[in-house]
Amino acid sequence: MVVGVWILGDRLNRLQSSLESCHEQKEKTPVIFIESSNYVKQRPYHQQKLVLVWSAMRHFAEELKADNWQVTYAITEDFATPLQEWIQKNKITELRITTPCDRTFLARIQSLSLDCKITLLPDNHFLWSRQEFQDWAKSRKRLLMEDFYREGRKRFNILMSGKDPIGGKWNYDKQNRKPPKKNLETPERIWFEPDNITQEVINWIQEKQFSNYGEITPFQWGVTREQALQVLEHFITECLPSFGTYQDAMVTGEYTIWHGLISPYLNLGLLQPLEVINAVEKAYYDRELPLNSVEGFIRQVLGWREYMHGLYYHFDADYSQNNWFEHDRPLPEFFWDSSQTNLNCLKQTLIQTEKTGYAHHIQRLMILANFALITGINPQEIESWFHSVFIDAYDWVMQTNVIGMGIFADGGMLASKPYAALANYINKMSDYCSNCQYNKSDRLTEKACPFNYFYWDFIARHRDKLKSLGRMNLILGNLKKISEEDLKTMQELAQKFEFSK
Ligand code: FAD
Repeated sequence: MVVGVWILGDRLNRLQSSLESCHEQKEKTPVIFIESSNYVKQRPYHQQKLVLVWSAMRHFAEELKADNWQVTYAITEDFATPLQEWIQKNKITELRITTPCDRTFLARIQSLSLDCKITLLPDNHFLWSRQEFQDWAKSRKRLLMEDFYREGRKRFNILMSGKDPIGGKWNYDKQNRKPPKKNLETPERIWFEPDNITQEVINWIQEKQFSNYGEITPFQWGVTREQALQVLEHFITECLPSFGTYQDAMVTGEYTIWHGLISPYLNLGLLQPLEVINAVEKAYYDRELPLNSVEGFIRQVLGWREYMHGLYYHFDADYSQNNWFEHDRPLPEFFWDSSQTNLNCLKQTLIQTEKTGYAHHIQRLMILANFALITGINPQEIESWFHSVFIDAYDWVMQTNVIGMGIFADGGMLASKPYAALANYINKMSDYCSNCQYNKSDRLTEKACPFNYFYWDFIARHRDKLKSLGRMNLILGNLKKISEEDLKTMQELAQKFEFSK
């Protein structure tokens, strides 16, 4: 009997179940990595995403080779051909794979017809297994992130003092999310020069033109576990102390603020969630860091990330097709080309996404998704766009974040109300409005900020549906205070808005 292991591109970790199960016989275990060009052609991925994944795969393959695993690295069109050849050549009788996160990829594996048995081993890249999350969810009437997060704090004994949360409270958000001050001095970030392997991948992608979205250079992301650990340590030392305070702030030209920049590494398996949480908790005790920042950050990883992953499997596979508001506007062209919009908040966020493949949470939620929601862009089109352009995007994290949190296309299976907002919010949390040709305080003229009239147009269009949510009553009350004439003007402005300059 010969067991072989197929390492998937987002499972670049030695501790994964498939590798662990063969560790004792590693010198005799064939391991395969496959770069499939057909797979990446299914959507116009940001070019840096392709560089990140393929370079990280190639680096990880080298590490395993150096550790005496029998590594084959295939660069090909499809997955089936190299798999079949490798199985025959190595006389493999059982192929072990760590169960992929993404449903679509799992289905692809299950449809493969190979000359050996396929064994899917449990995915151990999350703190909560799918079954554990289901067990938690089954016992609840409402699936609240806050309840799940508290359960996680207790279960993994994070920031706890006996049965109570450290400091006496579970959540310190009242001290967080401050608007940006003028002349904020954000920390320098740690970036990496491409080595030979990364440069080869860059050249290959440029030559083959797999995608034309996003700038491929300068490529500065880490591509190894060692680099990912450096990013984590640098974040803890330089950024974590102010993380909470400016978690929601947006500043022109400041792409990273005090954020972790660790999602690309967590989602590839270069970092593990528990090691991130433990390192941050240790820093709280050893370096006496502010609890509001430490707790706020731990809530993102132990709470939001695990919750979104758990819900992806908890909901049915057709969750991705939800369209509660029946929105059908095609995705405006400017999402692919920032030069085609004059709205400064969108432009700045899109420019930064083109340059790096990264935008932080509030840019994704309150600028990009907010605009898509209130203008009625089709949910599946905007989800597909998010999936293409972000460096950390995978199906498991896109569905719940975009369809659920971002645009409320699931009608409240995840969030209790839509994250729709006026220019007022964007102006409070950023400096974008001060350099915009539209007027943030106006909602009734050609100069008015489109977020204002689209917002009220959205609320008015869906007032009956929104009434059923309860938490929208205050806003619906405000809608009633708007005169019919003003509402009509805003609706006309929304109709007339030119989505391309
Ligand atoms: P930080 O702000 O430093 O947060 C720390 C970590 O918490 C992140 O690295 C991430 O692992 C985790 N986290 C926080 N919130 C979430 C969340 N809602 N879901 C999952 N993990 C979370 N995250 C992705 O990993 N990939 C995506 O493609 C993605 N798309 C998103 C799309 C929309 C519309 C929204 C609203 C959110 C999306 N998120 C996504 C969640 C979040 O915005 C990113 O995880 C975060 O911006 C990554 O940057 P960071 O590492 O600097 O995060």
